Amino acid sequence: MHITELVLDNFKSFGRRTRIPFYEDFTVITGPNGSGKSNIIDGVLFALGLARTRGIRAEKLTDLIYNPGFEDGEGPSGEREASVEVVLDNSDGKLDRSQVVSAAGSDDIGDAEEITIKRRVKETDDNYYSYYYLNGRSVNLSDIQDLLAQAGVTPEGYNVVMQGDVTDIINMTPHERRGIIDEIAGVAEFDAKKEDAFGE
Ligand code: ATP
Ligand code: MG
Repeated sequence: MHITELVLDNFKSFGRRTRIPFYEDFTVITGPNGSGKSNIIDGVLFALGLARTRGIRAEKLTDLIYNPGFEDGEGPSGEREASVEVVLDNSDGKLDRSQVVSAAGSDDIGDAEEITIKRRVKETDDNYYSYYYLNGRSVNLSDIQDLLAQAGVTPEGYNVVMQGDVTDIINMTPHERRGIIDEIAGVAEFDAKKEDAFGE
């Protein structure tokens, strides 16, 4: 399973609907400082519900909506809605159709060889809303998280290595570093369960 496309619409610095193709093996994105490279990764984390707002460099969810006056520190105006869609190629059947149907709560999701996960954030005068969609069906964050966990993608996991992470890992104590290896190997989950069991 791999990402084939990302569609950013009014998200962070992407004031225009922008489609970014991802290749199966390796995709490199280059550009000058501040051109939006990290915002692309933030888009993936946002859409898949893998990070809290701080993890995607925003104080609140509505900061993720494109704001033309951002650089000048001006308040937002105009349309207050952003969305990011992640298109996944599932033709290897990493997730079987029944798992996708169960997460979507509907059989009406196509053949599941292509999975689309979309998240939308909308701001009104006095509130904001966040919506998730799986193959066009409205779902909850937990549906998305449960589905992705079956493919080994979790918020606690190290599926994404963020800017600065490598330096952080180098500066860690051996004990902290061991924690990461346990997390990747899937041992940490059992350690946590063991501790819970001892606690009871
Ligand atoms: P670097 O090479 O320094 O890591 P980068 O390509 O990763 O740079 P990003 O961090 O992705 O750059 O982009 C930062 C830019 O995104 C900032 O210049 C900021 O103006 C812009 N930006 C962030 N949020 C918004 C927003 N809500 N509206 C408009 N622009 C935004
Ligand atoms: Mg960056």
